[in-house]
Amino acid sequence: MVQARQAGASAEEFTSKAAPIEVGHWIGGAVAPPRADARHAPLWNPATGRQRGRVALATPEEVDAAVTAAANAFAGWGATPPVRRVRVMFRFRDLVETHLDELAGLIVAEHGKIFSDAKGEVQRGLEVVEFACGIPQLLKGEYSEQAGPGIDAHSVRQPLGVCVGITPFNFPAMVPMWMFPVAIACGNTFVLKPSERDPSASLLIAQLLRSAGLPDGVFNVVQGDREAVEALLAHPKVAAVSFVGSTAIARSVHETASRHGKRVQALGGAKNHMVVMPDADLDQAVDALVGAAYGSAGERCMAVSVAVVVGSVADALVARLAERVPGIRVGAGTDAGVEMGPLVTAAHRERVLRYIDAGIEEGAKLVVDGRETAAPDGSDGFFVGGTLFDHVAPEMTIYRDEIFGPVLSIVRVESFEQALTLANNHEYGNGVAIFTRDGDAAREFASRVQAGMVGVNVPIPVPMAFHSFGGWKASLFGDHHIYGPEGVRFYTKLKAVMQRWPTGIRAGADFSMPTSH
Ligand code: NAD
Repeated sequence: MVQARQAGASAEEFTSKAAPIEVGHWIGGAVAPPRADARHAPLWNPATGRQRGRVALATPEEVDAAVTAAANAFAGWGATPPVRRVRVMFRFRDLVETHLDELAGLIVAEHGKIFSDAKGEVQRGLEVVEFACGIPQLLKGEYSEQAGPGIDAHSVRQPLGVCVGITPFNFPAMVPMWMFPVAIACGNTFVLKPSERDPSASLLIAQLLRSAGLPDGVFNVVQGDREAVEALLAHPKVAAVSFVGSTAIARSVHETASRHGKRVQALGGAKNHMVVMPDADLDQAVDALVGAAYGSAGERCMAVSVAVVVGSVADALVARLAERVPGIRVGAGTDAGVEMGPLVTAAHRERVLRYIDAGIEEGAKLVVDGRETAAPDGSDGFFVGGTLFDHVAPEMTIYRDEIFGPVLSIVRVESFEQALTLANNHEYGNGVAIFTRDGDAAREFASRVQAGMVGVNVPIPVPMAFHSFGGWKASLFGDHHIYGPEGVRFYTKLKAVMQRWPTGIRAGADFSMPTSH
């Protein structure tokens, strides 16, 4: 028997063995019970392998109800002075901080990542809320006095209307917070479609926004899968779509939303390279690789999944990694001292295991085999241990594909040019890093590499909230990066106003193109 769950329920509810939960929608400022005939998807606790409950999958009618609620709220919210809009964001920021552990607990229970990592994701999301608190400064337009005789000109940025966010499983709080704080502070209303694999954080966020004083209908949540997404992309009242997820879906969302006349930004997958130059500080490089490849079990779009090692340093680097990786403490994200949690579902675990098999078959050298890592306490959780391949070649599947698991590939090259060419020839161009003590090499790399975010001795260069995040090539479809100044541009449209008052010059009708003299 599935019990109805109210938004804001404690993390304990999700980890208790007794009460299966049901996650529904949030429409017009309240939990919306799913229709009696609703389809559902199971919700898992990845650390135990047991089903925790189920999530409703919205029908097109439910999607329409959410978009209509957002469209109805737009007239009032869009006309609310920006300073008043951001007061809601200030209060929301404090509420998230107060409920940080609860939010992180929900993430651990459904995603599986370790508690400190879940708190870190909420913290990075909060930074976007803090950025959005300063939106009035960024909505200011530009002004030209005397653009013509007696004519002044100014420009303003105005909100678009109903904006949609479709988000992936791997950051159930942070990625939605890349989107809605900026969209809402700019005066838009919002419909979030979270991942159906870890949807509960979205409802707690909705409740906190309401407690912060956000008017009903400004923020809505529809749970769902492809059917809900297709209804959102085609809905005539949706103005803009922000998507984050895998590349195949990002490409298709970009095409479909564009065809329906929406503004769209669609962030896709990644295969982030970290180049280790012979002069790099080896201890620093090893630490960086262990954290960036195996943190969050590799389920990060900015995870390093390829180490490109230049020259003779490769043997020493691989030896150190071979020592370190088997020692990574794997277990439930709630357990003290655990460094890496399970993968999100059994199906994803199977997919990662198939990639490890493929790596062996294609001739890479398996140095550390995560398939052998014992599940903690004999649990049925979806665990895979840290895995390390050496002598990986560019034509191998494990080099080309995004595995999205704790699998690091070492590619050995002879020169800086070969390392750069390798990164530039890859289909993806999300993040990339170089570890070196040579400023000249670092500068050259940052200038010539074909990727959206570059780290110099920084393995995961996720831009701060007051910059913007986005990849190149198959890692992003659309013109705008997400959050920061690019987010403000995405969620607003520019309007230019010219004005002259009747007391100005009266020269009669002019049939020539107006000029300034
Ligand atoms: P996914 O593409 O499976 O799902 C993303 C969203 O799309 C979810 O809300 C899902 O319900 C929806 N969806 C799934 N199938 C769909 C379909 N056929 N039609 C329409 N919508 C569909 O991605 P995921 O597995 O949840 O997340 C992992 C992926 O996200 C990885 O590829 C990762 O690199 C990527 N990611 C990218 C970034 C970035 O900033 N570039 C950030 C986080 C995650």
